[in-house]
Amino acid sequence: MSTDAGEYDIAIVGASTAGCTAARLFALRGARVALIERRPAVDAYKTVCTHYIQSSATPTIEKLGLAPLLEERGAVHNSIDLWTRDSGWIGVGDGEAPYGYSITRRSLDPILRKLAADTPGVELVAGWTAVGLLGDGRPGGVEIEDHGHNRRRLNARLVVAADGRDSKLARLARVPGRIKPHGRFFYWAYWSGVRPATTRSKVWLLDPDAAYTFPNEDDLTVVLLAPHRDRLPEFRSDLEGAYRRMTDALPDAPDLSNATLESKLLGKLELPNVFRPAARPGLAFIGDAALAADPLWGVGCGWAFQSADWLVEETAHALDGGGDLDRALERYRRVHRRRLLPHYLLISDLASGRPINPIERRLYRAAARDRLVRHAFEQVGSRRRSPVRMLDPRVLARIAR
Ligand SMILES: Cc1cc2nc3c(=O)[nH]c(=O)nc-3n(C[C@H](O)[C@H](O)[C@H](O)COP(=O)(O)OP(=O)(O)OC[C@H]3O[C@@H](n4cnc5c(N)ncnc54)[C@H](O)[C@@H]3O)c2cc1C
Repeated sequence: MSTDAGEYDIAIVGASTAGCTAARLFALRGARVALIERRPAVDAYKTVCTHYIQSSATPTIEKLGLAPLLEERGAVHNSIDLWTRDSGWIGVGDGEAPYGYSITRRSLDPILRKLAADTPGVELVAGWTAVGLLGDGRPGGVEIEDHGHNRRRLNARLVVAADGRDSKLARLARVPGRIKPHGRFFYWAYWSGVRPATTRSKVWLLDPDAAYTFPNEDDLTVVLLAPHRDRLPEFRSDLEGAYRRMTDALPDAPDLSNATLESKLLGKLELPNVFRPAARPGLAFIGDAALAADPLWGVGCGWAFQSADWLVEETAHALDGGGDLDRALERYRRVHRRRLLPHYLLISDLASGRPINPIERRLYRAAARDRLVRHAFEQVGSRRRSPVRMLDPRVLARIAR
């Protein structure tokens, strides 16, 4: 039995990073928003994430009014050092580049969801799953279902899929993604008391394996390993032993001798890269539903914030009666593609697990010794600038030198 349950400007499916950001920003522009989330608890959080939020997303975090709440919770102002065999450590100093945030999803998700739900104009519909799209062709809303199999129809002028990397809405709307396979797998755990104590994150590109440490609030550090798929049998036969051996063998390895393991060992074995067109008439995709890339580079949360922001910027005026909504959606699709496709191509190529090539070796060596190259490298790595930045003739000349 299905009932009509209201008219909205926008129905957003998924109340995680992307969905909550879009809901709040749309509502601040005066829109009436249904924010649908299948998990009933307001303080639910994502466990499969290492939550290094790139500085590219800081302007959106500030626009949301989220930054002071993250500061209050003790979020770390993040920065990163990268190690390769050719270069040793590469990193710009503290304060030399804008910061992003590192904060566990256990803290972030409830803060952000509450912020969105408390915004006048947002109705959080928690404990309901989107199971269908209304309308023939152009979506006119969503059908939702609760645990008791009760159904409701929510009519909306715009449907937003913020339902993550396995987007059900994409399947319902038949918008397939372009998929590129992933050549590594991931195991990680949370530790307290890691030494030396630092707020700087570290990434090791061990060619072909990789690893990182991300410090967060409450002295919690994620220690993650991303071995090449060839090493899967070794990890399957002795998971904890393989995790400790590989961690201890890292150059300048984190000292875990007096650290406390604060979680079980978490793993993710399959993480294909997926990219799909971010909009079609009446329907937009944001966050992982539009683009889910290799987590090694810590981009997904930042792009969830940013893509939601771009969608609101492009469509809010049309939703307010100021123009054609589908043309605004097409503009959003193009912005998303222009901003993220070059990064995606680079990331998904590196995610294959192929060896580092001679040009990359030269780049890493140049970044370690040359300030201009290092800063350009940081701007691209933090996703504030396009990879095209590295083709600047002055940067190329320094790399070639
Ligand atoms: C191992 C790993 C490590 C990562 N580390 C990082 C990192 O360090 N930094 C970083 O930036 N990113 C990282 N990411 C990526 C990051 O977790 C995602 O990019 C981010 O969570 C995407 O946010 P989202 O809002 O688009 O989707 P999600 O966070 O996946 O949220 C989707 C939401 O939709 C809801 N939903 C789904 N289907 C329905 C439905 N039919 N009806 C109603 N609700 C529905 C879900 O319950 C969920 O709340 C990592 C990912 C992985 C797998």
